[in-house]
Amino acid sequence: MSAPTFEQTYAADVPELSTAWRAAVVEEPSLLVFDDDLATELGLDAAWLRTPDGVRMLAGQVPESWPTYAQAYAGHQFGSYSPVLGDGRALLLGEFVDPAGRRHDLHLKGSGRTPYARGGDGNAAVGPMLREYLVSEAMDALGIPTTRSLAVVGTGRTIMRERPLPGAILARVASSHLRVGTFQYAASLGRLDVLRALADHAIDRHHPTAREADDPYLALFEAVATAQARLVARWMGVGFIHGVMNTDNMTISGETIDYGPCAFLDAHDPRAVFSSIDHGGRYAYGNQPGIAQWNLARLGEALLPLIGRGPGGGEDESGEDESTPRPWPEPAEAAVEAATGVLAGFAETYDAAFHEVMAAKLGVRTGAEDDPEVRTLVSDVLALLTRERIDHTQFFRALTDGSARELVDDAAPFDVWLERRSALLDPDTAAREARMNAANPVYIPRNHVVEDVLGAATEGDLAPFMRVLPALRTPFTRRDGFEDLARPAPAGTPQHITYCGT
Ligand code: AMP
Ligand code: MG
Repeated sequence: MSAPTFEQTYAADVPELSTAWRAAVVEEPSLLVFDDDLATELGLDAAWLRTPDGVRMLAGQVPESWPTYAQAYAGHQFGSYSPVLGDGRALLLGEFVDPAGRRHDLHLKGSGRTPYARGGDGNAAVGPMLREYLVSEAMDALGIPTTRSLAVVGTGRTIMRERPLPGAILARVASSHLRVGTFQYAASLGRLDVLRALADHAIDRHHPTAREADDPYLALFEAVATAQARLVARWMGVGFIHGVMNTDNMTISGETIDYGPCAFLDAHDPRAVFSSIDHGGRYAYGNQPGIAQWNLARLGEALLPLIGRGPGGGEDESGEDESTPRPWPEPAEAAVEAATGVLAGFAETYDAAFHEVMAAKLGVRTGAEDDPEVRTLVSDVLALLTRERIDHTQFFRALTDGSARELVDDAAPFDVWLERRSALLDPDTAAREARMNAANPVYIPRNHVVEDVLGAATEGDLAPFMRVLPALRTPFTRRDGFEDLARPAPAGTPQHITYCGT
């Protein structure tokens, strides 16, 4: 039994973009939840991680000789720019390579104040950390790229929120924690060498084919835009609302990150907002593709000094000392045009990816995603769901089962729609049903159920949390006893509100 071997290539490649820092002392860490399957899949020693030494490691209690870092980033939060955010209560414990050769970060959230903590206390409460654990595991099971949750460790400390709450640390695994905001921060330093080193690190880690392009940094931008377009299309398919799509909460890898006030649609509604702080509806369900594009524009701005300057991003042009900060020169017109082209490409890629997702949900013939009739079929059914406030998840699953008509009040226009759809269906019934079943989950983390199980966990009862986890890990298979995860909140339940109060 042994501790995994960790590296710190991020800190080595871009030392300007993090601060060496230690986790706060945790005297008596206790393992609340742990994903044995994930540990094993990643080549980590699950049995060791469950030992007292392993749990101490998951709480950041590692020897002095083991360097750990708080990462720096900037970000647009609800549209306004904060030049320094960074890991205020998080630490990069290290990177490791799994048996398949993939590199991952092991990162802790709730591990104490850091130099980026500003007014925050550096802590996290059990409820929100279990929430991230549950929802990220559900998202992964739905086939959506996401950071993963390895463990939640109780700190044994009481932390102050609206009321005293038990503290916890989430141990999270991601293919990296590079964010749009990391690039914004790097660009703000005015140092081409740092920006280039970050972009190179991102290319090597996430988008290695960009290296072969004539303009690798433009290709990096394009690859991130494509990954994000596909990601958001998947969110839209399952009715996921991230809730806080600030540029610091958007990854370069294309994984979903930072589950704060996220929620799932019940009644389909493009304007659906659950977050208590999203007053203007900036991050409403239907706004997510546009916001992703807006965030990517910020990434493009940050990368602009490297774009259109050849494979080396202008490395050998000036002969000047790049490590002296200086204002960026006016970008070349061609660079701006190329970057704008990537943003236009995002819209196209998103649109194609979204219709691919929807075609699978509706069971139409493969290859028909671009058929204008399929497109109207999609927009008409979404308009119907919105008009009648029909439960998103239930409806699509019922379409698979042939019982969707029961959910619709105004049956006549729906019958016309069903007629039109039948002409576009995949004629291979078995293949169609299999594809639809794999695209339309029975179970999603229903907001009210999530609140209930987290409420119990906060009081020390993990049983309800443990009950729902297996169903959410196999969301496409109906089981007995999980009806609550398959239907919306009972009528009369107050509108669900999520809080950033983490
Ligand atoms: P978020 O939008 O929740 O991802 O966090 C935004 C920023 O606030 C990040 O820089 C976090 O590290 C920081 N932050 C959030 N909560 C705390 C806390 N309790 N203590 C210190 N920093 C925090
Ligand atoms: Mg964040």
